[in-house]
Amino acid sequence: DVADIPAIPEWLPDHLRESGIDSLYPPQAEAVEAGVTEGENLVASIPTASGKTLIAELAMLASVARGGTALYIVPLRALASEKHAEFEQFEQYGLDVGVSTGNYESEGGWLAGKDIIVATSEKVDSLVRNGAPWLEELTCVVADEVHLVDDGERGPTLEVTLAKLRRITAGLQTVALSATIGNAGELAEWLDAELLDSDWRPIDLKKGVHYGQALHLEDGSQQELRVRDGEKQTAAVVRDTLEPDRDEDGTIREEGGSSLVFVNSRRNAEAAAGRLAGVVSEYLDPEERAALAEVAEEIRDVSDTETSDDLADAVADGAAFHHAGLSRGHRELVEEAFRDRLIKVVSATPTLAAGVNTPSRRVIVRDWRRYDGTAGGMQPLSVLEVHQMMGRAGRPGRDPYGEAVLVASSHDELDELFERYVWAEPEPVRSKLAAEPALRTHILATVASGFASTREGLLEFLEATLYATQTDERGRLEEVTDDVIAYLERNGFLERDDGGLTATNLGHTVSRLYLDPMSAAEIIDGLDDADDRPTVLGLYQLVARTPDMYELYLRSGEDEEYTMLAYERESEFLGSMPSEFEDDRFEDWLSALKTARLLEDWASEREEDEITDRYGIGPGDIRGKVEAASWLLGAAESLAGELGLDCTPAIREARTRVEDGVREELLDLVSVRGVGRKRARRLYDAGIEDRAALREADKAAVLAALRNRRSTAETILENVGHRAPSMDGVEPDPDASP
Ligand code: ADP
Repeated sequence: DVADIPAIPEWLPDHLRESGIDSLYPPQAEAVEAGVTEGENLVASIPTASGKTLIAELAMLASVARGGTALYIVPLRALASEKHAEFEQFEQYGLDVGVSTGNYESEGGWLAGKDIIVATSEKVDSLVRNGAPWLEELTCVVADEVHLVDDGERGPTLEVTLAKLRRITAGLQTVALSATIGNAGELAEWLDAELLDSDWRPIDLKKGVHYGQALHLEDGSQQELRVRDGEKQTAAVVRDTLEPDRDEDGTIREEGGSSLVFVNSRRNAEAAAGRLAGVVSEYLDPEERAALAEVAEEIRDVSDTETSDDLADAVADGAAFHHAGLSRGHRELVEEAFRDRLIKVVSATPTLAAGVNTPSRRVIVRDWRRYDGTAGGMQPLSVLEVHQMMGRAGRPGRDPYGEAVLVASSHDELDELFERYVWAEPEPVRSKLAAEPALRTHILATVASGFASTREGLLEFLEATLYATQTDERGRLEEVTDDVIAYLERNGFLERDDGGLTATNLGHTVSRLYLDPMSAAEIIDGLDDADDRPTVLGLYQLVARTPDMYELYLRSGEDEEYTMLAYERESEFLGSMPSEFEDDRFEDWLSALKTARLLEDWASEREEDEITDRYGIGPGDIRGKVEAASWLLGAAESLAGELGLDCTPAIREARTRVEDGVREELLDLVSVRGVGRKRARRLYDAGIEDRAALREADKAAVLAALRNRRSTAETILENVGHRAPSMDGVEPDPDASP
């Protein structure tokens, strides 16, 4: 019973009961027995949707009740806001909850007084680099989805950050939450933690494979599906899920349910939603149709793009797609309508499996291979990933059990999928720290923030990582470490004398800016080559070719187009363009050019949907590129300042233009709250060219430029400090289209 949990705040048992939690799930009870509320370290490896969050909450609340501060580390920004919203329920008991995902240069002083803080591992790493003093006050740290230490990109940051936090703060309680993995014991050894390794689930999960006319489940049973002639497999499973179960006499025993379909690309997600809308449509009643029409309208209101239209069309028929290219507003509307059971099927890329809580009766893993550029071709997904997707099946309290199926197109594939995924154990998690790109960043940061001041000290610090726990070859880490020290020294980020290591001023700046040292070296190189007026395209291409920006891929046939563009605008590039005969380098250069032209288009006021069409991306991707460019240009500005270069104003202009998506002449107008790129252009074209002009402007002219939207016009005039912003009595312009 929840009243028997030791060391938690006295209001918590009642609060839990009010939220429908009367007793702990067995793994939660085990966690309490292991001392999670009494400050013990714990690694909990349990299936998706089995109540990991409550384990974290118990640990954090108990720690806060003892006067401490808790930090919850999430792997994705999207999860940070979700967890923050979840923990805000505790504010009614006087707790102060903060979230920090923003830019990487501050020490987040305002977080100092918080009781619970949610942040991504990158953010925490940067807080450590910036020497945030309040980190020493931490008493409890929770690492969510800790199996992601296996991820080559982001795993090392989580690993090093945990090691640093544990060193800064003696006696810090560490709670690590993981999906079910093969080697949770190694994680526990690394973190000196109790191990909780369980495969208990609140609702039964039956895994299986669909082949021919039937679902083949792992218990050996088969279910015949009601497939129509010519219907594809995924459509057939979705339809079968929608059909209510009836008794002999036709009365409904159980309502139909929803499906979640995992596919391997955004394009496939969109295409599948379009097709599945046709299946769902005939199962909707008039009430549901009306409610869905409203959601579709809200989706169209979020943005005026093709993606938005496609999504709204699918949603009107009860289907949706979900991927990282969607804007946040779209994602939230889809998730909510799916939880409300209005949307009956969502086709998604695996981002949805990474924690967003959207259970459904059936999960269909349609694609079990994914394109992988580095491996060159389609590669099978890991068992861990497939099991995490499958774990989304079944809603406790609503479904008798969940079903999760893969889709096989031949008898051989049916057997293969059973072997490979249904019966298989998830693979062990391995540290990816001993790779150069990871160590480049983390070694510089470790020295710069004072965790080590000699080569030996550095190696000793690295001993506290998961990598050291797992490896048998000590030599390997030493070797890479020496290579990396040499690289950092060559580029002027580190200095070495009589065995001591110190970061140079430049090195400190790079570490605080959270740049990959290789990005910094590339930027410095390019800026050295610039005169005092580099063009925006030149600057955008420079930051786009650093390892800190994901480039756009060239589609087939685009090589030629961008090669031509590269020669046309060769004089604008900063640093020397590789020759066409250096295949890989040249290809990378062109991809960066493509990304740069996208940014230039945006900063030249090209329409959003023209850009999404031109580059084959979603509106969320434009945002992503713009944010990355703005951060990197800000960093370039700091580096240029540090090095005393003359191009700082040009960099600043390139940055503000891309942030606001406008040409130079609109920069003043967009600084008025409520004035975005489109409104600024209309005002400017109406002869109102800057803030000062807007403050004094004729109100009828402003109203006409804002297409007769009275309340918008009033708000904007108020924001800019107009003498009399009221629009009462101002005549609308009949020619301005509303
Ligand atoms: P995950 O392990 O994927 O983080 P969650 O923590 O999100 O899973 O839990 C899944 C769901 O189970 C949540 O809706 C949560 O409210 C519910 N839940 C967790 N613990 C209990 C419990 N002891 N009793 C009833 N419901 C619970």
